[in-house]
Amino acid sequence: MPIDQKFKLIQEKISLSCARANRSISDVHIVAVTKSVSIERAVEVLETGLKHLGENRPEGLLNKQASIKEPVVWHYIGSLQTRKVKQVINSIQVFHSLDRMSLADEIQKRADHKIDCFVQVNISEEEAKHGIELKSVESFIESLDKHDRINIIGLMGMAPNGANNEVIRSLFKSLKDMQLKIASQHYSHAPCLELSMGMSNDYEIAIEEGATYVRIGKALVGEESEDSHEYKK
Ligand SMILES: *Cc1c(COP(=O)(O)O)cnc(C)c1O
Repeated sequence: MPIDQKFKLIQEKISLSCARANRSISDVHIVAVTKSVSIERAVEVLETGLKHLGENRPEGLLNKQASIKEPVVWHYIGSLQTRKVKQVINSIQVFHSLDRMSLADEIQKRADHKIDCFVQVNISEEEAKHGIELKSVESFIESLDKHDRINIIGLMGMAPNGANNEVIRSLFKSLKDMQLKIASQHYSHAPCLELSMGMSNDYEIAIEEGATYVRIGKALVGEESEDSHEYKK
């Protein structure tokens, strides 16, 4: 199926999810995850009118940025090694995977402007997944108040692979509850009004539970290249 048809289908599902949850579709942003596809495919995505692209590796991001001339809002969605922060931090608009203080310190050191960041939360509590434990999120965010190059716009989470819908829903709910709790503190460095959750298999549930950014890869763009360790895990 061509990308524009997949995009229409996804939009229809998103508007149904929004209707079920009594939400406005304008509050839900699609980040097209192009980490596993070519530059040409990424350009096709932009031709649908989508503006947000997500990459999970510095090389993938920089390659696409070098070739794509259309305006893009770039999202970095993967785990990032501290030593690679300087390669990417000033060429993205949104960072989805702030998960440790050493990374925050490096962003603070390397960023030449304030970076919009999501704190990644390990909602599935799988050892292998990145992210701060739910019970430590508040203290982590509190302790970022001197990092003036970091603006915490929200929380990001991933459901475990293969979990059933009820489990996924309850994990997304717990992330939403934490987001509201932090937002209610009105931290100037952490407005925390956004929720980055939902991927190809669970974006409808995520939207019903409050996602404002869904990160959709294979359902929208398919898979092409070998360069995708997130899939292969
Ligand atoms: C790959 C990836 C996605 C997209 O996953 P799909 O299942 O292809 O939609 C979303 N978020 C993160 C962090 C990813 O690594």
